[in-house]
Amino acid sequence: MGIFKRVFIFLYGIGLKLDNTDSIHGHEYFDEATGAFIPPIFLSSMFEQRGPAKKSERGVDLKYSREENPTVMALEKVISKLEGSEDSLCFNSGMAGISSVYLHYLKAGDNIVITSEAYGTSIKLAEDLAKFGVHTKKAYPSADDIVSKIDSETAIVFIEVMTNPTLKVIDIKQVSERTRKSGIKLIVDNTFLSPYNFKPIKNGADLSLESLTKYISGHNDIIGGSVSGSRKNMLDIWEWRRMLGTILNPFSAYLALRGVKTLGVRMERHQENALKVAKYLASSSKVTDVMYPGLENNSYHNIAKRMFRGFGGVVSFRIKGGRDESIRVLKSLSLIKPSPSLGGTESIMTYPVLSASSSINKMDREKLGITDSLLRLSVGLEDAEDIISDLENAFSKI
Ligand code: PLP
Repeated sequence: MGIFKRVFIFLYGIGLKLDNTDSIHGHEYFDEATGAFIPPIFLSSMFEQRGPAKKSERGVDLKYSREENPTVMALEKVISKLEGSEDSLCFNSGMAGISSVYLHYLKAGDNIVITSEAYGTSIKLAEDLAKFGVHTKKAYPSADDIVSKIDSETAIVFIEVMTNPTLKVIDIKQVSERTRKSGIKLIVDNTFLSPYNFKPIKNGADLSLESLTKYISGHNDIIGGSVSGSRKNMLDIWEWRRMLGTILNPFSAYLALRGVKTLGVRMERHQENALKVAKYLASSSKVTDVMYPGLENNSYHNIAKRMFRGFGGVVSFRIKGGRDESIRVLKSLSLIKPSPSLGGTESIMTYPVLSASSSINKMDREKLGITDSLLRLSVGLEDAEDIISDLENAFSKI
């Protein structure tokens, strides 16, 4: 037997499985009474407590569903396996996870270094913490600029390794070497890549955040978020989740648990379609610029290839013209849904200046290339040819 096969069998034996297996078997359920393998949706708001409560696996009381819920715990187990983390917590939105993390790590006098290009609400929330004495230092999304903004007051550095919406790629190694040196928490919003393509914690981050709303649940039918990291960090953040009441609801947890089973299969298809669409866009006379790290001539292609398993399913591009032409394209789409969000089975087109990036100030937007002619396409799982036909038809109207 070859050495690789032996190593693989050893790792399998000690419980380390690969991502597609973990997505499906990361949590195993078996009900002795009925023989069922698929976990039910535990809707119970309360659990029996005669004296000390039963403990959940992370060692906290399982007595009330605002604190712990078995369906949510099952999902958390799968997410932890995929992220390669000790523990994970699920929230009722990506933003609920992000706010709990900010609240836990930031206090008056601290600053947060955040990239000027990130999900607009993550930036705005950081800026709004000014009223509690927290300062926001914005960095251009490059490792050099992020590192240069860190000072002795920095408590957390918050980045998207592949940025929303222009898909710039940040060298996490360089950033994490600097944050580690000063004990600063490095927090990565990994929503655009998903843990299938990239594992922030294995690459130097302290926490990995996901909007479960996107690739992990994958069907555009829930809102949720997750935070992953060490057991110690999760216990601290768990306390905030309990007090704020921001745990994911059991029905959405069940849908995410169901959706995540096909994460790998879907991601492969998303990115296969995305590459075809990106190549089409690059050939269109109505498009002036295509941003997709999967394209060999993209300036981030080499670093993205080194860091990620795949390039994700989002393609951003600039059309000839400005706001009027962008809006005409959105109005002319038929198969592709003009709407915010990403990462689901349906292809979705977003106009960043009016949605995800609207809370980024205009000066920053211009520096980052988030212009009136920029459109962001989340390439779905339809046949690529049909997505391209819909784009071609919409472009014929400008
Ligand atoms: N992070 C990114 C990159 C996002 O795109 C979004 C939402 O679009 C969020 C976080 C927030 O997630 P949610 O909408 O689930 O609160």
